[in-house]
Amino acid sequence: MIRTKVLVVGGGPGGYVAAARAGELGLDTVLVEASRLGGTCLIRGCIPSKALIHAAGKFDAVKRAVGGDALGIAVREAPSIDLARTVAWKDGIVDRLDRGVQGLLRKAKVRVLKGWATFSDAKTCTVETDGATETVRAEHVILANGSETAALPGLELGGPVISSTEALSLSRVPQRLLVIGAGYIGLELGMAFRKIGSEVTVVEARERILPNWDEPLTIPVRRSLERVGVSLHLSARVESVERTEAEARATIRTKDGTVVPVTADNLLMTVGRIPRTRGWGLETMAVDMKGPFIRIDEHCRTSMRDVWAIGDLVGEPMLAHKASAQGRMVAEVIAGNRRRFDPVAIPAVCFTDPEIVSVGLAPAEAAARGLETTVGQFPFSASGRALGMEAGGDGGFVRVLARRDDRRVLGVQAVGAHVSELVGEFTLALEMGATLEDIEATIHAHPTLTEAFHDAALSALEHAAADAHRGADRLG
Ligand code: FAD
Ligand code: NAD
Repeated sequence: MIRTKVLVVGGGPGGYVAAARAGELGLDTVLVEASRLGGTCLIRGCIPSKALIHAAGKFDAVKRAVGGDALGIAVREAPSIDLARTVAWKDGIVDRLDRGVQGLLRKAKVRVLKGWATFSDAKTCTVETDGATETVRAEHVILANGSETAALPGLELGGPVISSTEALSLSRVPQRLLVIGAGYIGLELGMAFRKIGSEVTVVEARERILPNWDEPLTIPVRRSLERVGVSLHLSARVESVERTEAEARATIRTKDGTVVPVTADNLLMTVGRIPRTRGWGLETMAVDMKGPFIRIDEHCRTSMRDVWAIGDLVGEPMLAHKASAQGRMVAEVIAGNRRRFDPVAIPAVCFTDPEIVSVGLAPAEAAARGLETTVGQFPFSASGRALGMEAGGDGGFVRVLARRDDRRVLGVQAVGAHVSELVGEFTLALEMGATLEDIEATIHAHPTLTEAFHDAALSALEHAAADAHRGADRLG
């Protein structure tokens, strides 16, 4: 029997960060991971998908230079892609990061057990490791079991019906790819496969793509899907799927009731992810649930004493940086520090082409809360840096929303190439309680895309001044 102060279950960005921090703080810590350290994010999610998206973007740029592009760059022949090699390159990155996590945990003196943890009560689990069975008993348990792909009823994964995990390790480009769900994964990967040559059809149940995002941000992405030739069915559903080893034959009921047959080499299921709450003894713990997720308080405490839960297991947003922030905080709370999970905002990034980022409130959300706001927007078509990087023509912009009374920034959104790299500044502005005047007073380097944030803030200040002026006129 191993007795430890802290037991972490799951080695994803929630679990490994929690364990490393607990170890750094001198707490005796054991981490149990059934698969590879790094979890969904590092092994089969964030990192591999962004590597594939990068490769697809590079391939697309070369393809567009066949016969000469606007920059005067010409290649003679259409390029080819050896997807097995792309995947091997991506695997090299994953292996390197996986080794990095191993090193981090070693340095923090965390003991890692490889195997599946099954709980018999809230503080005790057994782990099958290489033929042996270890029992671990802990004072504190941090649950970081993550999430898994949601499947549609009657349409289980298997054969040509794949999840993002298989899509990120294909050895050849599917000639025809049918994507169910125009959310994060469906559009990020759907676009990437289109760029490397697949004929891509996307079926979305709701009336627009990325339905959880503010609509104006999604319009440039919609145009881009059309431009690259992704076939899109909105307000549509897959009615039936027949599959053979080699292909899936689906019938899709479209918005107007027509039934469209689509045959594809692969059907990629991207209708969401569900928390992994089964198969490891959660039922023995008597923790309260909140819908499909484990209920937690602002310290990530569950209803069971000294059992904590973090990451995808505890609800939206199911994002790696939220999991890590919660993991770090829980370790510090267990070590006796006064902390709570109370971020002003958690940034979200969609790595489509163009990229979308959002942090804090969008105008509609602020209006729903009855807040009086002022909005400023700046288009990348007026940014020298964006134009010089061929990123000014995709309809992108930065938009900033602030309270009308004290001009405190409430939210920042952007759409455009490379905007994922701007979101740190937006988030910092919110977390530090910046006002529009703070953004105005910050000298932004020229020429950079970040100037668009400065310009959006100036535009919001002008609107605020015009509003104040109109108000004064009315009073006068
Ligand atoms: P996970 O990363 O899922 O890790 C949980 C770990 O627990 C797993 O390794 C699992 O093997 C292990 N485990 C579970 N139960 C047990 C048990 N009983 N015993 C032992 N081990 C167990 N998020 C972003 O922020 N940015 C992105 O760009 C992004 N891209 C994504 C792309 C894809 C294709 C996918 C699928 C997800 C993406 N995400 C992204 C989401 C991100 O991966 C998750 O939010 C994040 O990994 C959640 O971290 P976690 O630690 O909660 O769980
Ligand atoms: P998602 O929630 O982003 O999108 C699912 C989409 O499927 C929605 O648009 C939904 O309306 C649609 N849908 C649901 N049922 C359907 C049906 N029967 N037919 C057609 N469409 C249907 O989910 P996802 O793309 O699977 O990603 C899962 C999660 O992983 C995300 O919510 C996010 O938390 C995380 N993720 C994040 C990133 C990132 O941060 N860049 C990237 C990938 C994944």
